[in-house]
Amino acid sequence: MNTDTIAAVATGMTPSGIGIIRVSGEDAFSVASSVFLGKNNKAISKYEDHRAYYGYVHDEDRVVDDAILLVFKAPHSFTGEDVVEIQCHGGILMMKQILEICLKSGARAAEPGEFTKRAFLNGKMDLSEAEAVMDTIYSKNDLALKNSVKQMQGALYRRITAVREKILYETAFIESALDDPEHFDLTGYPEKLSERLLEMLRDLEELADSFDDGRMLSEGVRTVILGKPNVGKSSLLNILAGSERAIVTDVAGTTRDTIEEDISLGGVMLHVIDTAGIRSSEDVIEQIGIKKALENARSADLVIMVIDSSEVLSDEDEQILQFIKNHEKKSVILLNKSDLKTVTGPEEIACYTSNPVIIISAKDETGIDELKKFIIDEYSKGYIKYNDEIFISNLRQKEALTDAIGSLLNVAKSITEGMPEDFYSIDLTAAYGSLGKIIGVSIGDDVINEIFGRFCMGK
Ligand code: GDP
Repeated sequence: MNTDTIAAVATGMTPSGIGIIRVSGEDAFSVASSVFLGKNNKAISKYEDHRAYYGYVHDEDRVVDDAILLVFKAPHSFTGEDVVEIQCHGGILMMKQILEICLKSGARAAEPGEFTKRAFLNGKMDLSEAEAVMDTIYSKNDLALKNSVKQMQGALYRRITAVREKILYETAFIESALDDPEHFDLTGYPEKLSERLLEMLRDLEELADSFDDGRMLSEGVRTVILGKPNVGKSSLLNILAGSERAIVTDVAGTTRDTIEEDISLGGVMLHVIDTAGIRSSEDVIEQIGIKKALENARSADLVIMVIDSSEVLSDEDEQILQFIKNHEKKSVILLNKSDLKTVTGPEEIACYTSNPVIIISAKDETGIDELKKFIIDEYSKGYIKYNDEIFISNLRQKEALTDAIGSLLNVAKSITEGMPEDFYSIDLTAAYGSLGKIIGVSIGDDVINEIFGRFCMGK
């Protein structure tokens, strides 16, 4: 484990009132001694733990800034190591200069996420709590923030640990019984274990199932607007986003690449991906756009299909309707341009889809409330459910849960098939290991580096 001393700017690299440079490691106090001089003229080694000292940062003889130094002595710090935080004026150049002085004085520039990685490796937090630190920083809405704070405070850790303890108890019981059959009786045990397995499985499945909802809640409902060119997709996006972000023109096929936008509708967050119009075309760029549109739609939670109701239904419209049907996508079909004479009405498309159809005019902004109501009714349930419960929003955790569930199901299968008890023990141990991955027990350096590499600088 690295014990060298690392330093980074912990606050954002934008001009602000205060900037913080964080230093952690064995030499944190000696680095601080080289860059900071307190008004009290005391040696930093004499500074008390968890105190703030006023003074100034200097580069040899040159005074760089007025500053406050915070002192955290190991192990009572975020990383578990000696840590100092220098609070200076939050100018970008100022923060950079002070960091440079720290680096010159013996610290090394920290990698992204390295402070939290050290906190994890020093046992200050488990892996689920460390990941939640990052989620907290990147939370895009209230519920996601609330969830990551719960996770950061150990809610997921406690839930996973509770199941692991139950598994450990059963494994220990089986092993003891096999070693010492005189004192441990396995008669009737498989039935008891079956019941306990059901309880564990219910708990883990509930968590695993929260993944999709959790992802939608924290990242937004992945929404793709599909429709051939010129039907009014960009106009619709503009209304929903309440701005003139997308380019609206009369030329068919203007929206060539994707426009992505987070839009909040009555508390439901949509992550909208507006793709190029679907059209059978020789145009190469447009073909790429079409491919991308359908690709995006494949992984969408919601497809909003726009049809121009003032025109007859075309092959391209039919192609999209067919796509929605084949992929069983949750969709809503919008018949746009209702301000013009209707050529294609709900009855014309009834044979293609059982999805809800809403008549709108992006021009007159009619029917938009109905669309919003549909979306809010569909997706706001999760906000109520997960107000109190924790959800997972991380694929790594979901995969570990799925593996654990698979192993526990194998135990259940061994019981049904009347296999000997040592078979239970193998799969119970596997489930224990899979759950351990969520909290960071027995995982390799490669996984740890991968996870912390995703962190931002200075965290
Ligand atoms: P996209 O290619 O599907 O993104 O379509 P646009 O949003 O760029 O719209 C194409 C054209 O249709 C523009 O001239 C819009 O002003 C027009 N348009 C969009 N919605 C309506 C509508 O509800 N009624 C009428 N009459 N025109 C519309």
